[in-house]
Amino acid sequence: MKEPIAIIGAGIAGLATAVRLAVAGHAVTVFEASGTFGGKMHQFRLPGGYRFDAGPSLFTLPELVDDLFRLAGRAPTDYFRYQRLDPITNYFFADGTRLTAWADADHFAAEVADKLDAPAAAVAQFLARSGKSYDATAGTFLHKSLHKAGTYFSAETLKAVAALPGLGLTGTMHQRHEQAFADPRLVQLFDRYATYNGSDPYQAPATLSMIPHLEHGIGAFYPEGGIYAIASSLARLAAEFGVQFRYHEPVEEIIVAEGRVTGLRTAQDVYDFGRVVSNMDVVPTYRRLLPTQPAPERTLGQPRSSSALLFYWGIAREFPELDLHNIFFSADYQGEFQAIFRDKTVADDVTVYVNVTSKKTPADAPPGHENWFVMVNVPHDQGQDWEALTQKTRAVVLRKLGQALGTDIGPLIAAEKVWTPPGIAADTSSFGGALYGSSSNNALAAFLRHPNFSGRLEGLYFCGGSVHPGGGIPLCLLSAKIVSSLIDS
Ligand code: FAD
Repeated sequence: MKEPIAIIGAGIAGLATAVRLAVAGHAVTVFEASGTFGGKMHQFRLPGGYRFDAGPSLFTLPELVDDLFRLAGRAPTDYFRYQRLDPITNYFFADGTRLTAWADADHFAAEVADKLDAPAAAVAQFLARSGKSYDATAGTFLHKSLHKAGTYFSAETLKAVAALPGLGLTGTMHQRHEQAFADPRLVQLFDRYATYNGSDPYQAPATLSMIPHLEHGIGAFYPEGGIYAIASSLARLAAEFGVQFRYHEPVEEIIVAEGRVTGLRTAQDVYDFGRVVSNMDVVPTYRRLLPTQPAPERTLGQPRSSSALLFYWGIAREFPELDLHNIFFSADYQGEFQAIFRDKTVADDVTVYVNVTSKKTPADAPPGHENWFVMVNVPHDQGQDWEALTQKTRAVVLRKLGQALGTDIGPLIAAEKVWTPPGIAADTSSFGGALYGSSSNNALAAFLRHPNFSGRLEGLYFCGGSVHPGGGIPLCLLSAKIVSSLIDS
């Protein structure tokens, strides 16, 4: 058995790191503040028979999950199954136009040509270029530590750097989309991909225009049983490899002596560990668990990503016009992002995302009912009056959905739960309730995220959405891969 390692937090990155290290022969203990695994990826039920995935709903790059089972010598499908989505998303524009985003790029381009003012060839060309950008850069910018010299001296990195000027990726995402398309609705559709890592398309660099390739080039997927199945299948695998989970045991201090980690303190005990991986958001890791250590202030001060206001509704009716993923756009997208990132508030007209897992997993709602996960992008918590903003936004959402669907939604709500930025912060320790750690609103954001290791304290590592390579399920899984390779290199 290799040396024992502690992991703080059983979020998706903590689980994936635990699997990797346990499979490599380490004795792994996971300390988790709450009573269960998953972090933002937890599930809950509401009275009346409704199940909800609390956080992530869109799933791409499933092979990163499969990899963990293969690494462990297991058949992925014995633990985790998923289906490819087609269509991916139903769009409802403010002017009443409806559009279906089909998975296949050509099918999608034909739909756009039919419903919007854009030739199919322009859409196909845009998606092809999005794929080219992804292929040229993902290996370097996502799969490796950007903070180790070795990353910069590989043939792959040289290829990525050499490809950058030819990809036409200067300026912002929004500018890139305006250059590509005349129809503002199509610009809005592609701008939306900035929200996949909690950023603002009017500030985020054009390199993020590669995100649509994940859906239309590689595919969007739905796990059997919902997104929670990702966490539960990994928790099962981890337990089979001897990982010890200590629930309801928040870590209160990372103990340090002479520049290296020596253990952890919880309310229950003090534990010796020469290596600790924090899956807790990096800001509270420094502020709460290492209060006497110098912190990387510039890194921790990077602007946060957006957060979300979530309404989980049990709905006493079925809506055939809805699918798993549904977007109801606002009429003023720029105003919406200015409200979030400049004014730190919620606009009067908002884009509403409705996710209905009972479309794929009927047991998630009683017969004839649906489980609506209704999400609005909002700023992270900076002391706003969330009660007032929640009341205001709930009314806007009900009006907007009611208009688009031609039905009064309020009377159909049979069960309800609300999750606000302060709630997300309290339940998962995410700084300000930001969904994706720091935002990607400038071209250097990738380099300004905290590395997967501490440069000052030997034996301290970081995984999860607040550190390199960033937030979202795939990047969290990649952070686990980088951490385990740093530990066992
Ligand atoms: P977290 O999920 O942040 O978990 C951290 C864990 O650490 C928690 O369990 C917490 O209790 C524990 N912890 C914290 N402090 C301590 C301590 N001191 N001691 C012990 N334990 C501690 N991503 C996508 O890919 N697709 C989506 O569609 C998507 N939508 C999202 C929607 C919402 C509403 C939210 C909230 C997130 C969404 N995301 C999405 C982002 C995604 O959920 C996160 O990037 C990812 O789940 C973060 O995982 P993590 O490993 O960083 O840990």
